[in-house]
Amino acid sequence: MSTVPGRTDLPGSARAAGKRPLDGQTGPRAGLSDIPPQPTASLAEPAESLRADPVRIAADLEAIARIGGGEGGVTRPGYSPLERQAHELVGGWLTDLGLTVWGDAAGNTIAELPAPASKPALGTGSHLDSVPGGGRFDGVVGVVGAVEVVRMLRDAGVTLGRPLRVVCFAAEEGARFGQACLGSRAVAGIGASDIDEIRDEGGVTRAQAMREVGLDPTDLDLARWDPRDWAAFLELHVEQGTVLESQGVRVGVVDLVSGSTRLELELHGRASHSGGTPMTGRSDALAAAAEIVTAAEHVANDPRHRGTRATIGRLQVAPGNITTIPGHVVCTLDVRDVDSDRQRLTVLEMLRRGAEACARRHVSMSVRLIGDTSPAVLPIWVRRVVTRAARAVGVEYRVVTSGASHDAQSVNTIVPAGIIFVPSRAGLSHVAEEWTDAADIAMGTDVLARSLIELDGELAVIEGIR
Ligand SMILES: [Zn+2]
Repeated sequence: MSTVPGRTDLPGSARAAGKRPLDGQTGPRAGLSDIPPQPTASLAEPAESLRADPVRIAADLEAIARIGGGEGGVTRPGYSPLERQAHELVGGWLTDLGLTVWGDAAGNTIAELPAPASKPALGTGSHLDSVPGGGRFDGVVGVVGAVEVVRMLRDAGVTLGRPLRVVCFAAEEGARFGQACLGSRAVAGIGASDIDEIRDEGGVTRAQAMREVGLDPTDLDLARWDPRDWAAFLELHVEQGTVLESQGVRVGVVDLVSGSTRLELELHGRASHSGGTPMTGRSDALAAAAEIVTAAEHVANDPRHRGTRATIGRLQVAPGNITTIPGHVVCTLDVRDVDSDRQRLTVLEMLRRGAEACARRHVSMSVRLIGDTSPAVLPIWVRRVVTRAARAVGVEYRVVTSGASHDAQSVNTIVPAGIIFVPSRAGLSHVAEEWTDAADIAMGTDVLARSLIELDGELAVIEGIR
């Protein structure tokens, strides 16, 4: 591994994969790599000086929120110029901190804090894209927390025994292309086959969107991580739920991440005059869709499906006239569950009821699978390290389940991963009102930093035994 940051001096794996430094980056700078190697922090050492600064965190959040942010919240879609701008901003911060920064073929930004020894790296980070009209914390908290960890290690004079990589994943939100975690799935080698098929609402394919921001989609395979190059990954994220706030707890340690099955349903009925057509014999596609919406809710509310969430989040009605019976409807169905069998069985049950309603109403239904991800159980040894870190920091934690998908879930398919939650005010997320106090983010960042140090120590012990 290279220990000198600079434009042409990428770590070996980055060079091999044809990765390139981010634009606007300048050559070697004074930074962490200029600090002579120091002893690795001992596990027994409380590292009292290792504390995140909520003022710095708030300033970073504010700077990122200005990109695509406004009255109606933050709009920074995956593979948009605004998302790229956010990546360049954070890449610049990490360059200034002395890290080697590069962008991969999937649009992810990766920065490496070198270590005295060339060992599999620890990673931490999250995403910088948002849903339309989203909040300023979803994803960004994990990136800002990762940057703050680098500053904390510098300020406390702590050197890890292995490289630390900060990762800003691209296109995590499924809002644009229907599929979530595109950047992190690429590093895990999942789902690169349909880049010419998945489209946003404007009909732009993922491949086109990537080209428009200067990425070559045919290189996507190069973004794949070599699992031997990574030891573990941690993601700090906002909870997007109410468990922590309602229990007055500031840190959550995630045990399980929900899976999701996403479908697009297309209903074909017959458009005709709303006054001239009697109520009998109509083929009203919207009335059939309404039955599907309530059936999905009904199935998910069944006590046997406790833990299932079903949502119809998009409904397009045509022709959309006040005086015409809706002849055509396209809607989405998103089913989430922590039980992978139940997740798929629930979808089948909803489709069965939908088909029944359509048949009764002389409407035809076609179904397209947009995405299907199984729930993930995060490795218990990583979780134990995080809970130990929370105790060392002196903060109360709860073990929680994540209803939302996260980049760490994709990463976990190839590299052991953990997720740390901080509270979301009123549980709100994907809306402009999304809020997490900087003090809570700082507390989560303390746990993140401590966890990374503990992981480094634990891995060193394992490596010693080998
Ligand atoms: Zn997120």
